[in-house]
Amino acid sequence: MLQCLEQAEIVLRNAIRGRSDRDFVDEFQAYWSNVFIYVDVAESYSGPARIRPARLNRGEFNALVVTAGRSWFAAEPRRKRREEEDGTPVEVVAIDYPLTFAATEAWPPTTVAEINRWLQKAAPDLIGRLESILQTQSGVSAAVLIRAPNGLYCYQVEVPQHLQRPEFLKSRRHRLPEMMERQLVSTPIERLIGVRADADYLFGRNLGSMNGLVDKRILLIGCGTIGSFLAHQLAQRGAGAKRGYLSLVDPDVLTTGNIGRHLLGVPYLGRNKAEACASYLNEQLPLLAIEGYAGDVRTQKLDWHRYDLVIGATGEEALSIALNEIAVQARPRLPPHLFVWLLGNGAVAQCILTGEVDRACFKCLKPDLAGLPRFRAMRPETVVETVTNVACGDAAYVPFPVSRSVAAAAMACDLVVDWANGNPGHRFRSLTLDNRRAFRVPNGSPTKLNHCPACGG
Ligand SMILES: [Zn+2]
Repeated sequence: MLQCLEQAEIVLRNAIRGRSDRDFVDEFQAYWSNVFIYVDVAESYSGPARIRPARLNRGEFNALVVTAGRSWFAAEPRRKRREEEDGTPVEVVAIDYPLTFAATEAWPPTTVAEINRWLQKAAPDLIGRLESILQTQSGVSAAVLIRAPNGLYCYQVEVPQHLQRPEFLKSRRHRLPEMMERQLVSTPIERLIGVRADADYLFGRNLGSMNGLVDKRILLIGCGTIGSFLAHQLAQRGAGAKRGYLSLVDPDVLTTGNIGRHLLGVPYLGRNKAEACASYLNEQLPLLAIEGYAGDVRTQKLDWHRYDLVIGATGEEALSIALNEIAVQARPRLPPHLFVWLLGNGAVAQCILTGEVDRACFKCLKPDLAGLPRFRAMRPETVVETVTNVACGDAAYVPFPVSRSVAAAAMACDLVVDWANGNPGHRFRSLTLDNRRAFRVPNGSPTKLNHCPACGG
């Protein structure tokens, strides 16, 4: 206890003597405010913007967003009847030094005059900026958003009710700040902390130096147990952001039998899996362009050439062979194809990226349909369990738990991101999840087989 008190004394003495600037810089957010505002403008943007209500869930507006132009989560006003509905004008200003304050200053600033007093030391260039926005823009409020090396800081002011009349707002607009200053009660300002909400931040912050899937155009075939989780992971890595889009295709409907190992749950029962996944992901990540198509991919009128990558995640060998055949025949016009699947009741997850002429296609992994695979994963004594449960209306299916499809989806997602970064590494990856039933198969980039029925010869 005594040591704590001694330490506290040192901190306080340093603060009073102005020797803890570093601490104030690092913790300035805590001193500024505890109210947040989302900022959906590019990291390098400076200039005029608007503060608008943000739509975070299905109904109410419960947050604000700073946007220059359209924002992915700003609620667009139905009709611009009044200028006020178009939000508060805000100027985004970038400075190259951190914001702070001295321990001896009156804190926090609560009026325009106090803001200007603080700015004299903190950021002299910004003195009067709020007033000039109020003078030159329409509406009843104005704001400044400072982008400093130690955070995003916003302050805004609203014209008091009794001055919100045409004679002040229109004809004597240039004198508004002066009149507000002369009131008996100073007009309060509101301080807000900016929180980045732009696509680069949302999908880049967890990647470090890696590129995400922003701008990539991806077709994902199969939104079952593997495909649904893969769709979610691809979306979280930015597939469908900016100029990219993510298309999902599946002919099936979500049933109660799927619930135990699918991304979606009860609210989506009876809906087409691709459309339902797109709808769910669009709700969770509304800034992405994700579309769902019900039906068989081979009969869809999709323009395959407009994709950078096609992913087969149905886990059905026959369909994968058919898609592989189409891709090989059309080389090099079609984009690379990636296949992902599970073996032996989820004992092994595997995926392969195909499309290069001298490397293996999907069929090269098992050229003889009835024969053994080229890289044997299942132990010889292992029997694959299938279930036919007519009483429940289930066709034959292979039981395996959700953990196995999530593992397969994660492995495929890593390969997709490696591909997007221009260095796919091992094109064929195999992950043994049950050592009692399967061997370990090393990852690699197998060559094509001359006797492959699809790409050989
Ligand atoms: Zn082949």
